[in-house]
Amino acid sequence: MPRSVLIIDAMSNRRIHLRAQLDTSAYPVDLAETQAEGLAIIRRDSPDVVIIADDLPGLRLRQFCKLLRNKTQTQFTTVVVAVQTENQSARVSALVDGAHDVIDVNADASDLKARVRSFMRSAPPSNGAPRQARSHEAVGLAEAIPEFAPKTIASFVAHDPGDNFHELLRCASRDTGIEFRLTSPLVARREPDAECDVFILLEDQPNDSIRDTLVALRNHPDGRDSRILFVTDCISQSASPLDLGADDQVPTTISPTELSMRIARLARKKRDADRRRKETNELAQKAYVDALTGLSNRTAMDEYLVRMDRALCNQPRAVAVMIADIDHFKAINDNHGHAAGDVILAQLAQTLKSSLRDGDFIARYGGEEFLIVLPNVSESQSRRVAQRLRDAVAENPIALNAGTHVRATISVGVAVAHRSDRLSTTDLRRAADNALYSAKRHGRNRIEIAPPASPHGRRVGNVRSDS
Ligand code: GH3
Ligand code: MG
Ligand code: MG
Repeated sequence: MPRSVLIIDAMSNRRIHLRAQLDTSAYPVDLAETQAEGLAIIRRDSPDVVIIADDLPGLRLRQFCKLLRNKTQTQFTTVVVAVQTENQSARVSALVDGAHDVIDVNADASDLKARVRSFMRSAPPSNGAPRQARSHEAVGLAEAIPEFAPKTIASFVAHDPGDNFHELLRCASRDTGIEFRLTSPLVARREPDAECDVFILLEDQPNDSIRDTLVALRNHPDGRDSRILFVTDCISQSASPLDLGADDQVPTTISPTELSMRIARLARKKRDADRRRKETNELAQKAYVDALTGLSNRTAMDEYLVRMDRALCNQPRAVAVMIADIDHFKAINDNHGHAAGDVILAQLAQTLKSSLRDGDFIARYGGEEFLIVLPNVSESQSRRVAQRLRDAVAENPIALNAGTHVRATISVGVAVAHRSDRLSTTDLRRAADNALYSAKRHGRNRIEIAPPASPHGRRVGNVRSDS
């Protein structure tokens, strides 16, 4: 279903005026005269943004917002209240009642369009899987679930804030837990405060370059995840601050109460986004990391090898694939118990990992087997690395509970390919596996190197021992 906007207003001239303001936006606009008519359209079409007049008869705004929030289909619908006169207390009470934003019907058309575009950008995908409802993200400002929220840090960025703004910030910080820090645009551009939840950018006058600061901040690694509130009275022909990356925009006449409410909401959204990012990272971590050893798992290994296959022909030097297998691990389990076997596996995995370079790759290949890839090495280097791994394991007995130490050993099969060999990682894995088999047959705790590839890419000769 295409994204759309619904305007509900009893006065036809205001409905038509608002629709005219949105005229060139890319979204279809529906009109309703009463709440009942509006709710019927909402049920039928699920518009993403509903603009509702603040003097509409019917349900009180608080009930109207709650009604939408409590239905799965409309829980993320953005409710914007159109106030008829510039009245600070009407604005604040609309936000308290659950509106996501407040607009002045007489405001500039480009501002309204930019706000609608911004709401549409942050709306969940219209045809994708429904976004999981969060405790309070769909809520405007009315019913924020009480939660332990760390102090909100807001950086006020301005060329010359002046006394009025110092007073505004002083009032906005009173009883709200917001800590304001003053920053110059230059510092915000170059070294944004990484602790900051919300940057407040003040445009003192047209073309004072604060919009450049907005763009720089949005793209800076330390400012990217913070929220940005843009304060301006300037109507510019250039792109709106909301289109340039600001999350909210307010006039300089904003009241301290509204300012602190908007900052608190932006800080809450940032915390929600931070939490979602952390959860995604943890999920990725679980999907790609072997839980016992902390090494890459099979999935990560398969993806790495696909990438390595593509990169093989670009390697300046050779690539080595090794398979290391713990010797007589079944006997270790039998003697010390499976739990002790797990400890040994995890410890030995760390010993191997810490003996490799940063750009090398190691994964848990199977039960007690590890696959190692060394990009950009010579054959003699790969032999030395294999030897180093074997020595590191053999020389570091692993401590178990009750003071017991177990000295494990590994056997390693190594296969090396040069760019001209035209081998795939599958060929290398097979060759390393054969070499490992040979190392086991020749007594274990040793290295075997697979024979070099023939000019046609096939391996020739016997496995060479290198213990
Ligand atoms: P070889 O020297 O020929 O490699 O002998 P091996 O005993 O190491 O090889 P085998 O394949 O006979 O046995 C491997 C053992 O590894 C059997 C299996 O129970 C154990 N193993 C595999 N995964 C795990 C694990 O996650 N934890 C523990 N404790 N043991 C494991
Ligand atoms: Mg084994
Ligand atoms: Mg094995």
